[in-house]
Amino acid sequence: MTITHNLGFPRIGVQRELKRALEAYWSGAQSAQDLEDTGRELRARHWKLQAAAGLDFVPVGDFAWYDHVLEWTTLLGAVPARFAQSDREPVALDTLFRMGRGRAPTGTPAAACEMTKWFDTNYHYLVPELVPNQSYRIARRYLFDQIEEAQALGHRVKPVIPGPLTWLWLGKGDAFSQGATDPAKLDLLDNLLPVYQQVLQQIKELGVEWVQIDEPILGLDLPPAWQSAFKVVYKQLAQAGIPILLATYFEHLHENVEVLNGLPVQGVHIDLVRAPDQLDDVLAVVSDEQVLSLGLIDGRNVWRTDLDKARALVETLAVRRGDRLWLAPSCSLLHVPVDLDAEHELDAELRGWLSFATQKLDELAWLADSLSTIPSSTSQTALQRQRLALQGRKDSGRIHNKVTQKDLVASADLDRNRAPFAQRILRQQEKLGLPAYPTTTIGSFPQTPEIRVSRRDWKSGALSDSAYQAAMRKEIEHVIRFQERIGLDVLVHGEAERNDMVEYFGELLGGFAFTQNGWVQSYGSRCVKPPIIFGDVARPAPMTVAWSAYAQSLTEKPVKGMLTGPVTILQWSFVRDDQPRETTCRQLALALRQEVVDLENAGIAVIQIDEPAFREGLPLRRADWSRYLEWAVDCFRLSTVGVKDETQIHTHMCYSEFNDIIQAIAAMDADVITIETSRSNMELLAAFEDFQYPNDIGPGVYDIHSPNVPDTEWMVALMQKAAQRLHPQRLWVNPDCGLKTRGWAETEAALVRMVGAAQALRYT
Ligand code: GLN
Ligand code: ZN
Repeated sequence: MTITHNLGFPRIGVQRELKRALEAYWSGAQSAQDLEDTGRELRARHWKLQAAAGLDFVPVGDFAWYDHVLEWTTLLGAVPARFAQSDREPVALDTLFRMGRGRAPTGTPAAACEMTKWFDTNYHYLVPELVPNQSYRIARRYLFDQIEEAQALGHRVKPVIPGPLTWLWLGKGDAFSQGATDPAKLDLLDNLLPVYQQVLQQIKELGVEWVQIDEPILGLDLPPAWQSAFKVVYKQLAQAGIPILLATYFEHLHENVEVLNGLPVQGVHIDLVRAPDQLDDVLAVVSDEQVLSLGLIDGRNVWRTDLDKARALVETLAVRRGDRLWLAPSCSLLHVPVDLDAEHELDAELRGWLSFATQKLDELAWLADSLSTIPSSTSQTALQRQRLALQGRKDSGRIHNKVTQKDLVASADLDRNRAPFAQRILRQQEKLGLPAYPTTTIGSFPQTPEIRVSRRDWKSGALSDSAYQAAMRKEIEHVIRFQERIGLDVLVHGEAERNDMVEYFGELLGGFAFTQNGWVQSYGSRCVKPPIIFGDVARPAPMTVAWSAYAQSLTEKPVKGMLTGPVTILQWSFVRDDQPRETTCRQLALALRQEVVDLENAGIAVIQIDEPAFREGLPLRRADWSRYLEWAVDCFRLSTVGVKDETQIHTHMCYSEFNDIIQAIAAMDADVITIETSRSNMELLAAFEDFQYPNDIGPGVYDIHSPNVPDTEWMVALMQKAAQRLHPQRLWVNPDCGLKTRGWAETEAALVRMVGAAQALRYT
């Protein structure tokens, strides 16, 4: 009999119960006991759901108050010194929260740990801080407590923990200047492995049969020192005497498959959704005695699985391996919404194509059952229903848009080139007449409660179209007058009409669907609700032109049109799985190109296409980078080059490093790029300097994530640093990012000083 298991279930709860409980606890409205109760309820509910679906093992250790990496870091007692943790006491929950967010109901506030993206997902983990000779100990008991909690509820459990090599790889420390790959980190294993062994022994003493150890770094380019460390590490962990399932996901193992050869673990999990063609390579190194766990249900996307295809892939293996074949989702279900049944507004046809975490458990159970000698009628009926739904999806008129497909074919011949920058910029300067060090902002102005209320009431129907129009126009007029008064050079309309930079466009484009409760954890208590791109993208009507044109009608100064770029829309949505990402991105680019041309025709002389997610779209493996960059750059150019030379194209990126992608950034050929740099003290500009980046740049002069108002002198000094690296004629002055999360008081104060800084620079 094939065994089924899960690598992790979303922890937030279908109604975001965990978010609410956390925020209530942080604000003092609820006690620690209330929070603990919510956590216990959620765990019990999720285990029950998984067991009821028929899974043989439920995961334990996937629950986290803030982040599962942070849970593990605190269990190991790896608490940075600034949090004043005694090395004898257990780590308190509030210490974990202080590490995650800088403060908690008790304890002294301290700088939070750094947060960064978890592999190529939109989930963020807290970066472990590594110190040479660090000592570790079991400093929290949550894992053991939760194992007992699940066992008491009658579940057969499989604890899930981050692997020592992945944990070290993700960690950072001043002493490890080579970054992720720094081989000096491996010296920490001497102290780390004994604690891992203790953990494994204690798990074993609880009567647990299997432990899953996650080593997703096996999907990355690993230096030889890291590859060979696996043998040493797992040999030592094997001594604890509990069977280990080594889990990999998110990528093809490629050459790292050799690491598995002879590795003393009892089982291996691989992701066959992302990399179906790695099965043969893995079969060649996994022995018949070892368990092979295959991830066949997509843990990263929301589509129903083609179960016939999955079944065909594993049928013979199931016979040959029996209970040494395990089936699972490709990775933890953390990355998909909890339950499709919480959606009441999706139409039946579309629902039939979708599967959220809860539905994926059923898919898994049906798949396993269909492999048994006498499949149950339930699974056979379910399979048949799913077959019909998927056939319906293939044939649906809602997916296929003839015009989009024709445009896509024709786009191969569309021009991707504008006149050289040196020529364009002269025409633009003639038209715009901007001073040296021109000032601008990134697009959004504070989203006040009144703005949010207007948008909400309009959506619910409580506010009429005309009343809503009037309210938004009032906001636009307000920000235009404000920007004129303080003397900014290139103005924006303020984005009051946008709830979110992707959702706003998705709602106006064809081929998108939205959920009511499709929340996915982004970090801590923060969740996002990504749109679902299900069909060919179309732009039935202009999306931003009326707002931008109205803003422009109020002033003599140029107002920037403001769009979200194709790559960012793609990255922050659930994307269709029936065509390459690249194709969907091109469709988005074509829709945006129409918008860009319409903006130009409406008299907008400066158009910004935001691409904050450009870098995060990079594949996990270097070998795949150039292909991605090629189409990503092409999509950006496709969306921008429809305009005249004198129309100025801006782009904006934040949270990016540019060193290794500077060539692609230059190939995008935006006239102006504004980037987040203030926190790096202009260090990020080194890449532009070394490359001799030719076009205009606006390095952000202040961090919009902080309410602090920056000093004029400080901004001047930053710009002077920038001017040492780049030609002053090419420089713009602007904040790091949009201002939507700020209040008006600090926004006004900061921008007045920023304009002052630009003026000071012009006269020196
Ligand atoms: N134009 C957007 C804004 O100003 C850009 C947001 C972003 O870069 N994430 O809000
Ligand atoms: Zn930004």
